[in-house]
Amino acid sequence: MSVVDVILRGDFDNSYEITVDYGIMDEVVSDLCDEKFGCTPVVICDENTRELFGHELVEKLAVKGVDPLLLTVPAGENSKSLDVFGSLLEAMLEAGITRQDVVVALGGGVVGDLSGYVAGSYMRGINFVQVPTTLLSQVDSAVGGKVAVNISGGKNYCGMFYQPRRVYSDISALDTLPEREILSGLGEVVKHGFIYDRDFVEFLRDNAEKVLKLDKEVMSRVVSRCCEIKADVVSRDEKEGGMRRILNYGHTVGHAIETFAGYKKSHGECVAYGMRIVARACSKAGILSGDDLELHDEVMDRLGLATGDIDIDPSLIMELMKRDKKVKQGAVVIVALDKLGHAVVREDFPLELIEAELKDLS
Ligand code: NAD
Ligand code: MG
Repeated sequence: MSVVDVILRGDFDNSYEITVDYGIMDEVVSDLCDEKFGCTPVVICDENTRELFGHELVEKLAVKGVDPLLLTVPAGENSKSLDVFGSLLEAMLEAGITRQDVVVALGGGVVGDLSGYVAGSYMRGINFVQVPTTLLSQVDSAVGGKVAVNISGGKNYCGMFYQPRRVYSDISALDTLPEREILSGLGEVVKHGFIYDRDFVEFLRDNAEKVLKLDKEVMSRVVSRCCEIKADVVSRDEKEGGMRRILNYGHTVGHAIETFAGYKKSHGECVAYGMRIVARACSKAGILSGDDLELHDEVMDRLGLATGDIDIDPSLIMELMKRDKKVKQGAVVIVALDKLGHAVVREDFPLELIEAELKDLS
């Protein structure tokens, strides 16, 4: 078991712990029974996580005399909507949920983002606990306090920063995850190494096979190292004023690919292509050394990330990039690597180098 401290001492102390372990549900049950975070737990699942973990959690709580409210949303990104958000709030009010109760997000990033926004809004904010069950949510979305739903104008355009009181990441939950979802999470895993920790990149390269087999010890280390890195970045910049932007490595290009593909490719896969393209452009620009680029691509190859060409229209991708919500006064912000394990935010990156790499891959 490992525990990662997320230290957030801005206007308020929002610090919390992330516990990473396998078979952690009993700890979740016992903490909820002890009312560590609130009285009645409102467990929010999607259809899949309800079957996989939700019923079991509710039964275990019931045996101990706790009667949670179990709310289920359809699986998939469409549940991150104002309609679903509103219906959860209504259901909680109808069930008599008070400010003393606690919202428990039991699922992937969709459930986490949606439930966090519900917790942050219900009666101006009630306690929130995350039990992330996908790799992506364990290494990324459950850390850092960004919660949101989508509106027709854009993804995550309606939300807030709302920190959980605690995160429980159960590595054994990953056993049932489809391969596509594992790969999506791995894109964000390697990103953490690329921007912050060269040793971690080497660890991933040397243990790629075990990672792909979801070896429990290796995955515990992977998840906790990613949480440490993201926590470190977020603790220096809780609300994305500066440094937190390095977490967007690969994302400016990746988002454009995602939009181009009509969201048919997974986010992590698109980010993986984005990272490949930006790293090559960094190398061409003379910012990143050839050796570093080699290791960058080697670890991605071994993990099976963004291998092969993709069907894209480079000039359309460039257009979409310029429309990204992170564009600052007309400048496309690119997170570049000046060495492996160190990212820099650039508003003057030579975009023609990115376009050339896009052409090369398409
Ligand atoms: P997801 O929540 O849709 O989960 C993917 C699929 O896996 C779903 O069908 C789900 O039901 C299923 N599933 C969940 N756990 C499972 C398990 N253990 N076994 C089998 N199936 C399981 O997707 P995701 O990739 O976890 O999250 C994507 C979302 O996260 C996006 O909406 C994205 O915007 C958001 N996100 C947020 C942040 C943030 O900082 N808040 C960061 C990154 C991504
Ligand atoms: Mg991402």
